[in-house]
Amino acid sequence: MSDVTIVGAGLAGCEAAWQLAQRGLEVQLVEMRPVRQTPAHVTDQFAELVCSNSLGSTRLDRALGLLKEEMRRLGSLVIACADAHALPAGGALAVDREGFSQAVTQAVTTHPRIHVLRKEIEEIPDGLTILATGPLTSSSLAGQIGRFAGQAQLYFYDALAPIVTLESIAMPPAWRQSRYDRDSGQSEGDYINCPLDRAQYEAFVGAVREAGRIELRSFETDPEAERFFEGCLPIEVLAGRSMEALAFGPMRPVGLRDPRTGRRPYAVVQLRQDDQAGTLFNIVGFQTNIKWPEQRRILQAIPGLEQAEFVRLGQMHRNTFINSPLLLHATLQARGRDDLFFAGQITGTEGYVGSAAGGLWAGLNAARLAQGMAPLVLPDATMMGALFAYITQADPRYFQPMKSNFGLMPELETHVRNKGDRYLAYAQRALQALEQFMAGHSLAPVPVRP
Ligand SMILES: Cc1cc2nc3c(=O)[nH]c(=O)nc-3n(C[C@H](O)[C@H](O)[C@H](O)COP(=O)(O)OP(=O)(O)OC[C@H]3O[C@@H](n4cnc5c(N)ncnc54)[C@H](O)[C@@H]3O)c2cc1C
Repeated sequence: MSDVTIVGAGLAGCEAAWQLAQRGLEVQLVEMRPVRQTPAHVTDQFAELVCSNSLGSTRLDRALGLLKEEMRRLGSLVIACADAHALPAGGALAVDREGFSQAVTQAVTTHPRIHVLRKEIEEIPDGLTILATGPLTSSSLAGQIGRFAGQAQLYFYDALAPIVTLESIAMPPAWRQSRYDRDSGQSEGDYINCPLDRAQYEAFVGAVREAGRIELRSFETDPEAERFFEGCLPIEVLAGRSMEALAFGPMRPVGLRDPRTGRRPYAVVQLRQDDQAGTLFNIVGFQTNIKWPEQRRILQAIPGLEQAEFVRLGQMHRNTFINSPLLLHATLQARGRDDLFFAGQITGTEGYVGSAAGGLWAGLNAARLAQGMAPLVLPDATMMGALFAYITQADPRYFQPMKSNFGLMPELETHVRNKGDRYLAYAQRALQALEQFMAGHSLAPVPVRP
């Protein structure tokens, strides 16, 4: 008999299993590979890295560097195995992918309290459960999750529009105003607008038409994908349809007046607040698959975005994820079913490390629940806490997956001008907040042996 069932032995599921087992709980870890493969995995190993072999920067003044350091301090199996199988890669933690996956698999399968079952789970299990089935959750289980969550709250593709920091937008020429001044009253204009005259607009459309695109993998270009993409077409597809398609679509200027001219511009690029703190703004309707260097160059030609700092660039790919702001608490428990946790990419925490971080926190909280203690919410001054706060508090109408980044964190009490120094100050504050939090809740890192 196990205390907890975990579905999916990817990065999140293995981390969660480790956290639970090291806290004394019996875990059943169910993985469908190799009985049933996903379209991207190629081995039967756990924690397989499906694409890049990099877990991002090692530097504390980089979001992924800080995230990994927080996880190390909490006793992360995934980070310990990555550290043990690191390859020379400058300032990044790149790993020998086989050695890494084997180390995680070995640690998990030989743990006396983790019991592995190779089987596809088709229904959400009863009892204390963590669902960590990732971006390629099998379709039968996805159907069940859709029934649990409400079909409209489960997505199969992400369509990410770029996000920039507020402080990097130049105002003027950009200005704040909602169409027809229909504001929520919570700010001095809910949208930020970047004006384009006709020549600028036509140059923009030309550049978008000529830009190279990120190639989709074969399983992402099936007819089903096209059906999903039709609802949120990439700007390059609209630009290809006609010169005016964008000006009548996401770049329409109706209801707006440029305060510098008193007139409606020819076209606008609108940005909408993306986080609670109001430090991040996404470019509305600008989902795109344009290659990242070209995307950055084309977007920085827009008046007001010349110095834009991108915390996320646009992309579109297959990805099963739930509308976490509607469905999850910041403890990663499902609303309405306290004994069901979600972890990993399926919650909208984008990337290997973010996924493993979700597994760590869901595992730790599930262990607390099983042991009669209340699950915990991390302070949002930590990178993990800021990420979980984002996925559970973002506007559910526009929710899309998010990577860890400093823009998610509450601002420092005193502004530090230099960006490198500022990020380091965020990191120092985060590690201090984590230390205090761990001491306050008597949380010790679980021992790790990679
Ligand atoms: C094609 C692709 C490329 C990516 N490239 C990168 C990258 O380069 N860098 C990066 O940081 N992130 C990348 N990601 C995003 C993400 O970080 C990874 O997908 C990451 O592995 C997610 O971790 P996870 O634990 O949530 O899911 P996974 O690691 O995918 O683990 C989920 C596990 O659940 C199993 N499973 C699914 N359904 C069932 C079921 N019904 N029953 C039992 N088991 C089931 C799967 O077989 C899998 O082993 C990529 C994603 C995809 C799809």
